[in-house]
Amino acid sequence: MREYINKPVITIDGPAGSGKTTVSQIIANIYHLIWVDTGALYRAVALVSKQTGVAADDIQGLDQLCHSLKLTFVQQAGGRFLFNHETDISQDIRTPEISMLASRVSAQPVVRHYLLNVQRQLGKQGGAVFEGRDMGTVVFPDADIKFFLFADHTVRAKRRYKELQEKSVPVNFDTLSKEIKQRDRQDQQRKIAPLKPSEDAIHIDCSHLEIDDVVNRMRENIDKKYPRLDKREYL
Ligand code: C5P
Repeated sequence: MREYINKPVITIDGPAGSGKTTVSQIIANIYHLIWVDTGALYRAVALVSKQTGVAADDIQGLDQLCHSLKLTFVQQAGGRFLFNHETDISQDIRTPEISMLASRVSAQPVVRHYLLNVQRQLGKQGGAVFEGRDMGTVVFPDADIKFFLFADHTVRAKRRYKELQEKSVPVNFDTLSKEIKQRDRQDQQRKIAPLKPSEDAIHIDCSHLEIDDVVNRMRENIDKKYPRLDKREYL
């Protein structure tokens, strides 16, 4: 299955608010790897299902919807954006409503099957950091290095609350906290590709660690395995 030789595939899995996105971007930046936020792909399916009125349990509708998508990550000044065809959907996928809907549509095998191919296509050259829920278990079971991040529920809810406030998304802390619990439950209990650590994953409890501490733990593991991997200074 592996078609790459030089640059590794690194997977970072974990629940909502565990800090995956921030550290994945930093790790990708340090080691000159591409960064793929796979949650954004599930959110895109959820957004379009809302826009087109396809219910989260309409299997045929979701199948058609998936095949109508054209999702592209675009790197531009100011960050990384997700487009569906010509439309930038980066902002619209970040609401609490879409988070919950993403968790529901992601339990459908038709959606997972469609996105499995999209994700493997993005990773086939190697040289990438993939963050999500099932990267190390299902999408890239033979990834070179796998991490699983987790943190206390309250810490995660506070973190997500702050992020949404900074983006001026209206949010109530108690509602958000309950939604994160519900999303964790749904993601962990679904039949297909549930959120769980791969047996060979390196676990990091981020509850009381600063971002830099998490990044440094990851770097120790990556540098041990790939001492000659080209890297930038990280201060
Ligand atoms: O990571 P993020 O919070 O953006 O993910 C949104 C939702 O997408 C998750 O709650 C989960 O249900 C789904 N997801 C998934 N598998 C992935 C990434 C995300 O099921 N690899």
